[in-house]
Formats: sequence, C-alpha cells, structure tokens
Amino acid sequence: VAAAPVSGDVPAIELDNVVKEYVSHGEVVRAVKGVSLAIAEGEFFSLLGPSGCGKTTSMRMIAGFEDPTQGVVRLHGEDVTNVPPNKRDINMVFQSYALFPHMNVWDNVAFGLKRKKVPDTEIKRRVGEILEVVDLVGREKRRPKEMSGGQQQRVALARALVNRPRALLLDEPLGALDLKLRQAMQIELKRIQREVGITFVYVTHDQSEALTMSDRIAVMNDGLVEQLAGPREIYERPASKFVAGFIGTSNLLSGTVQHVGGDTAVLALGQSDRILIPADGTLSAGQTVDLTVRPEKIKIAKDRPEGDLSVVRGTVAEVVYLGTSNSYVVMLGDGAEITVFEQNANDSTITAERGDSVWLSWQPWHSYALR
Ligand code: ATP
Repeated sequence: VAAAPVSGDVPAIELDNVVKEYVSHGEVVRAVKGVSLAIAEGEFFSLLGPSGCGKTTSMRMIAGFEDPTQGVVRLHGEDVTNVPPNKRDINMVFQSYALFPHMNVWDNVAFGLKRKKVPDTEIKRRVGEILEVVDLVGREKRRPKEMSGGQQQRVALARALVNRPRALLLDEPLGALDLKLRQAMQIELKRIQREVGITFVYVTHDQSEALTMSDRIAVMNDGLVEQLAGPREIYERPASKFVAGFIGTSNLLSGTVQHVGGDTAVLALGQSDRILIPADGTLSAGQTVDLTVRPEKIKIAKDRPEGDLSVVRGTVAEVVYLGTSNSYVVMLGDGAEITVFEQNANDSTITAERGDSVWLSWQPWHSYALR
C-alpha cells in the first residue's frame, strides 16, 4: 500500500518496497514484508500496530540501524539505503530516556553541541530556546533523578531537537509513563512538533495515542501496512477487518445481500434481521458482506424506531456504567453480539437492563463494508 504525501513536494522520508529478514536459530524471520510509504516534510506520522508487526524494524531502517534485505530508503529524495545512521540527519528518542545521570538538564541537552564544537554563545542560545519549547526553563540545574518521568522525557526530547535534525524518530517514547501523564505528554508532543516544524515518525501500539497526535497513520500487521490514512479515515473507514478490530471497538457483522435498489441494499443478518446498507455499485444479490458499525453510532431503545434506519432486535446481555457513557452488549437472534455506547450527556438513565428485549438502530451509511 503506497500513499502519496500530503503535498506534491519531495517526501522527507520514503520506504520503497522495503523487506527485512532476520536469521534466527537457522530460520528466516520476515519482520517486514514489503513496506512502501512516503512521509511529507513536517508531518506527524505514526507507525501503529500490535507487538511484533514490524514497526520498530521499519523505524530502525529509516534511522539506518538496520539494513533492508530488499528495497530502498530515501531521505529528501536521496537514496540513503547504504548511508550510516550518523550521516542521515535524523535523531531518535527511545522509551528509556538514556540521559546522563551525573549531568544536569542543561549539560544533558548541550552535550551533543559541545561535542560538535559549536561555539559557546550559540550553544547557550540554542539550549535556552529548546528548553523553552519543552517547558523546562528554571530546571536547568536539576539532575535526571530529581525529575518526574515526564520531565525526563522532555529532556530527552530537547536533547534530540537541539541538534536540529530534519526528522525525529520516536519509539514508544511515552511507554514508561502512567496514563494521565501519557495523555498530557501526547498533547505536549503535538504542540512541540508544531512549534519546531520537524517531521516526526512515531512508533506505538497504542491506538488512542496515534489517533490523538498523528497527521497520518500507517497501521501495520504482520510485516505489512494494512492501511495508511488520517486518523478520522482510519477510524471511520477501516480498510480491513484487522484495522476495524484493532482501532477502537468495532461491531463486525456478516450478512447476505438480498437485493440492491439505488444507493442502498438490503442485507440479511441471520434468519430474521434485515438491514439497509449503502450500495456503491459493486454489490449484487447473493453476495456475502462483512461490515462494521461503531458502537457510538447505534441507538438503543425499548420501542421500534421510525424511519429509514437499519434496525435489529436483540436481548441485552450486559450493561456497564462507564461514567460518561453506558456500554451495552446486545445478543441478536442469530447469536451475533453488538456493543452499543450511549452517551450520558444530559442524564444518566439506563435505557435497558440485562435481559430486556431492545431495538438497535443506526443510519444505513454508518454500516461500513470491509474488504
Ligand atoms: P514491539 O512493539 O513488540 O517492539 P514491533 O512491531 O516493533 O513490536 P519488531 O520489533 O519490528 O516489531 O519485530 C518484528 C518481528 O521481527 C518480530 O517477530 C521479531 O521477533 C522479529 N525480530 C526483530 N528483531 C529481530 C532480530 N534482531 N533477530 C531476529 N528477529 C527479530
């Protein structure tokens, strides 16, 4: 799956049909099986997928820590496949911050510039500037162990950014932080990236993290990119069963097309339920269709709703009060389960209890057919 970057300019980073094989205990492991993608200058780009899908390996090939078995890596249009990491004008930030424990914040950040023999006045200016960006002014004299995990991560970020790389690669950088701090740092990272305008490539297995920060996301599975698109499209229009299942909560339904009329078709779910789905000209009677409906698009009611809706009937198997919403699991006649999220915007009344017979309804276009 190749996708063009947002602008027509030369991409900052390109993987062109890249394959990586490892030999482990005499067996060949294909960690990356042919990945092509193009990341635009200034983009916040995430590689998202479950453990072992090949995202870290892909990133390490961008950085130059791994040589591809096949394929080409390009930075700003230039083939760097055989260029060592220190000549790539890229910096990397890891989950373990790898700060120097005996140095204070200022010296940790200034370290790389000093080693490159950058003049003192310029070091002062650049370190000062970057500490402002990461919001650590006033903490210059602290040692890493005197700071929180989030602050240490910001020092690591400052240390990478002060070199002014053209791209920054981040491998699960927030993985060690607790949930609250991680969410705060997600917003912070996005702000910092906007402010410095550098291309960020972010590796994570956390879908909400990727959705929050990214301009575009490559969802990876088993060494391949399953979908490459913006967060909204990935969430609303998952390209495959895998993506639908991996991102958020999805209801996966399967049915047979009864007949097609205009821009809608009637789909039979099991023996008794018939729903309307959008028809795009590719559907024909008799065809089996897998589709997904997001839980927050579905309404739950005791009475049959009116209108041109997709409507199914079921029995409530589970109700969970989640504070801002209620979650229901409803069992359909054919044994399929549908999860429904109901917002508690105005009141917190529960529409149905366990064992109740209910109607579920949604707009036909909220059914999204999967490949
Ligand atoms: P995680 O989130 O767990 O780090 P990942 O998506 O980043 O996973 P990779 O680290 O890229 O996945 O690994 C992809 C596959 O390649 C895995 O099956 C892994 O075991 C294998 N692999 C990675 N590095 C090596 C290596 N040096 N030698 C052998 N196999 C490797």
